[in-house]
Amino acid sequence: MAKAKKIGIIGSGVAGLAIAVRLAAKGHRPVVFEKEETLGGKMGQLSREGYRFDTGPSLFTRPCLMNELTSLVEENEAFTYQKMDVSCQYFWEDGTAFTAYENKDALRKELNRVFPEDEKNFMERLQQAKELYDLVGNIFIEKPLNKWKTWLTKDVAKALARLPKFKLGSTMHEVNQAGFVNPKMRQIFDRFATYNGSNPFEAPALLNMIPHLELNLGTYYPDGGLRSIPQTLVRLGKKLGVEYRTAEAVTEIQVEDRKAVGITTSRDSYSFDAVVSNADVHPTYRYLLKDTTMPKRIEKQERSSSGIIFYWGVSKVFPQLSLHNIFFSECYEKEFRALFKNATMANDPTVYLNISSKVDPSDAPEGSENWFILINAPANRDQNWDALIAEVRKNVICKLERMLGEPVAEFIEFEEVLDPRTIERKTSSYQGSLYGTSSNHRSAAFRRHTNDHNRIGNLYFCGGSVHPGGGIPLCLNSAKIVSNLI
Ligand code: FAD
Repeated sequence: MAKAKKIGIIGSGVAGLAIAVRLAAKGHRPVVFEKEETLGGKMGQLSREGYRFDTGPSLFTRPCLMNELTSLVEENEAFTYQKMDVSCQYFWEDGTAFTAYENKDALRKELNRVFPEDEKNFMERLQQAKELYDLVGNIFIEKPLNKWKTWLTKDVAKALARLPKFKLGSTMHEVNQAGFVNPKMRQIFDRFATYNGSNPFEAPALLNMIPHLELNLGTYYPDGGLRSIPQTLVRLGKKLGVEYRTAEAVTEIQVEDRKAVGITTSRDSYSFDAVVSNADVHPTYRYLLKDTTMPKRIEKQERSSSGIIFYWGVSKVFPQLSLHNIFFSECYEKEFRALFKNATMANDPTVYLNISSKVDPSDAPEGSENWFILINAPANRDQNWDALIAEVRKNVICKLERMLGEPVAEFIEFEEVLDPRTIERKTSSYQGSLYGTSSNHRSAAFRRHTNDHNRIGNLYFCGGSVHPGGGIPLCLNSAKIVSNLI
């Protein structure tokens, strides 16, 4: 085995925690520095008055990536989860409701009931999403794009020959517009752009592989909620000897002779053989790499959307809802124009409502539900957020009461709000973006920051702001790529 290295990791987001596990399993000695009191970054938890909320991610796909990590520990550390029968429920203002069942027969029946004109198109699209994912998923998601080794393979040659049929020069929406008859069906498939905070009217059709993850491979719920993901990673890390230093902000990455050699923190100075930044690349360059300028390409890159999130304790049960629910806006194009062109929010936003107490009743008192409401918001550019939050809250309540046909506001027992400013302050995510940079460009995948530094040796990057992008599965993949590079 290669010599054990002492490795400093800046940040305890899901990617930072995962890289620590991988490196420790290889015999290295990782130390994780986290500026906050708690580990997990965006994957936080809020418990109050008998309600429990995951404050960040609510959708979990590809549990195999977590299984890989648990298998690195000799006495297999349990990480358990269940597959959902329904991936999502969709609602429209005209009363149309569609349930995306996991079971393909049930799904076909539901398609026939609601969108008979698109049943065949839907099933064909799922097959195409699978083909696209099988063809290029491992290149774009599992490998570094800046290494020749990634490109000089038979897989790449095979993929190049078969790609034209996927119309990758088009946007997601253009492909969805041509592929479906019913505008509601187009909206369902356009929404997958928001899985990495992008705009379907600009994001490339490459993102049309995302539905494969949800609709073919399925959605899952970890026992104990999404928070059990960082908790499990920390348990694994502790077993393998990872050291965690919370409430200790890194203030500088020490560089000598073009090599990262250590870290300075709010408390001390440490020597390392390699440094991995899991903090967003923007603050990493701006504050931690004092004599190194940020590449212009990175500085100018458009950020992903952010979000306004309401955590509501609701003293009523809504049997017509399930774990994931979407209440669509009337005009999707207008909504995304507001977000990405005008840096504001439309009057009629799409509402995502997650209720984990549907799966785990202990997350809310009896007869109540824990409502996590996420509204896509523009990246933080010092908008008047207090005014926007008040406006959005009013619009969301009106929309939900109208579409559910019953009162909601009077059952809200308590409320907490997260917004782009607080996301930025708590996690150092530049402009409060949820997923790093947006994919609103044909070459977005090639524009993300690489997982190693091209001029500073022994310096690596993982997490949502770098290759391959944001979201739990991609962050876990970035940790895997960096672990292989080291
Ligand atoms: P982050 O979670 O960004 O953590 C970085 C850590 O670095 C932070 O803890 C920060 O405090 C620390 N740090 C920064 N600077 C320093 C420093 N100088 N010194 C020490 N520590 C430092 N993804 C999904 O897959 N599914 C979803 O349903 C989903 N929904 C989301 C909903 C919300 C509300 C949010 C906020 C995100 C959502 N995401 C979702 C995205 C997902 O949470 C992120 O992509 C992922 O968690 C980011 O992980 P990361 O490893 O990049 O680190």
